[in-house]
Amino acid sequence: MAIANKIKNFMEQASWIRKMFEQGLELKARVGADKVFDFSLGNPNLEPPEKVRKAILEVINDERPGKHAYMPNAGLKETREAVANYLSREHDLPVTWEHIVMTCGAGGALNVALKTILDPQDEVLILAPYFVEYFFYVDNHNGIGKLVKTNEDFSLNIGEIEAAITPRTKAIIINSPNNPSGRVYDENSLNKLGKMLDSIIKNNKQIIYLLSDEPYSKIIYDGIKVPSILQAYKHSIIATSYSKDLSLPGERIGYLAVNPRLENWQQVVDGLTFCNRILGFVNAPALMQRILPQLQGVHVDVNEYKRKRDMLCAGMAEAGYSFIKPQGAFYLFPKSPLADDVKFVNILLEENILAVPGRGFGVPGYFRLAYCVEDRVIEGSLPGFKRAFLKAKS
Ligand code: PLP
Repeated sequence: MAIANKIKNFMEQASWIRKMFEQGLELKARVGADKVFDFSLGNPNLEPPEKVRKAILEVINDERPGKHAYMPNAGLKETREAVANYLSREHDLPVTWEHIVMTCGAGGALNVALKTILDPQDEVLILAPYFVEYFFYVDNHNGIGKLVKTNEDFSLNIGEIEAAITPRTKAIIINSPNNPSGRVYDENSLNKLGKMLDSIIKNNKQIIYLLSDEPYSKIIYDGIKVPSILQAYKHSIIATSYSKDLSLPGERIGYLAVNPRLENWQQVVDGLTFCNRILGFVNAPALMQRILPQLQGVHVDVNEYKRKRDMLCAGMAEAGYSFIKPQGAFYLFPKSPLADDVKFVNILLEENILAVPGRGFGVPGYFRLAYCVEDRVIEGSLPGFKRAFLKAKS
């Protein structure tokens, strides 16, 4: 055995997106890339805003020495300050640079946070449907991921969360806007969740952290606002990135923001800073950190994603599919017309459509479409979606 059995097993479990990707490559080679409708990956199709290019050029042309040197592990003070000022306004709380740790994307942020707070065998609640990597991230730091159901419409089910809590529960990961459902958790349910966790602190003296994974918080539609997790619960930590809202996933830049009201926040930030180093990230990329002070509040044109969402939703509804209209992010998560989502995804494949089965996100019976794609992919796929629906129902 060349690699650990555990990793081999994980690779097999997590193979849905990779499998679709590989099948997609084979299909593209066979029928031509322009005939394949690839909805398998959440790779933003929009280019970063022009301001990003300008900021990068400015930093590159700045001839001051030391630009590429190591820096404090939590990141540059000026960057942390810019992020903190932005968050203070957004959350109406006194967030300062000392509450911010710059990270290698949201994935890096979550790993740093879990490394910092988990003791071996501590439990982390993960709400389905979930981002595929969460269980692996928790395992990376010797924790145990526990699946918790949400409601039929993918909203929070506080009773299910409460029932899953044990004395070993150390954290809950929430992701809103959600990948893959597009659901934004509302303020009322977040406040209820906060209250329930507060009562656990009061009665059991057990602190449960709420890790809020928010890389899609700026990609929201129809005037919806993502409620402030920092307001809803004091033991909350935001993990996020500029991967989706600035279309910079390859640049690996994000941050952790620790709630200023969190007890012992300084110790938590010290732990995060240390873990950023010992996980081998050392610090988030310097060039990206230097552009960020100019880019707070800047994001891609969300109307473009809204237009794509509307085009896809209209076509899918017309073809007979049922789904919850996404409130944010750029994924649609329709019900599979067959109970067996893998079987249905294979029917879609016969129509040259690449989708990911819901079981890859902990919810069999659904499938995910990433609509961060060119319009021609959406337009061209609709007749195939219709035929696949009829085929499944016949
Ligand atoms: N969290 C969610 C919900 C995601 O969808 C993704 C990427 O698709 C990530 C985290 C990872 O983001 P990043 O590329 O910033 O590490």
